[in-house]
Amino acid sequence: MVNADGPSATSESLCRQCTLCCSGVLFVDVHLSSPTESSRLEKEGVELEWDQEESFLPQPCQCLNQQGDCRVYPQRPGMCAAFECSLLKDWQRGDLSTYQTLSRIKEARNQVASVENLLDKLGQRDASMPLFFRTESVLSQPWDLEGQADVNQWRDQLFDQSASLSEFLDRHFLRELDPEDDPPNESLI
Ligand code: SF4
Ligand code: SF4
Repeated sequence: MVNADGPSATSESLCRQCTLCCSGVLFVDVHLSSPTESSRLEKEGVELEWDQEESFLPQPCQCLNQQGDCRVYPQRPGMCAAFECSLLKDWQRGDLSTYQTLSRIKEARNQVASVENLLDKLGQRDASMPLFFRTESVLSQPWDLEGQADVNQWRDQLFDQSASLSEFLDRHFLRELDPEDDPPNESLI
């Protein structure tokens, strides 16, 4: 996840240009592993969600700043510290050049922007929600067969764009995710 300190200037710049694992695109929340972790974040003014004794850091993450840095980097959750997406691992192994890695980040962000644009047209403008929930909230509404042709066309496009984005993220960013990890968005639709 967003790495404000290194390990190298290039991986820092890759993550800064991406931020998909912090911005509510790849994950809907981060599961916190202990009360110590929760209280450390709460002392930093971070608002958590609770389910009985379990605590979660909701995404899009309130700790992500405009520059793409994590404002609680030294206190970030263990899951954030441990996470490296498939794309970053491919680049670290030398299987992808920096140019190829940046191209995939750009493609993913362009696809996210297309989905967000359609959500905006369809009246779903709550950017505090994970992209998955925003998309689901629109596509789960009943079809209005008598409705405006534009709206039905945008819904069709949203369905297709979301499926395409999910497939792209699964293939390039989440390929090596440990099945024991908290599940991300299995699908955006
Ligand atoms: S999804 Fe990967 S490349 Fe993007 S910020 Fe997270 S770790 Fe970095
Ligand atoms: S705490 Fe930091 S590393 Fe973790 S999701 Fe939020 S911005 Fe990303």
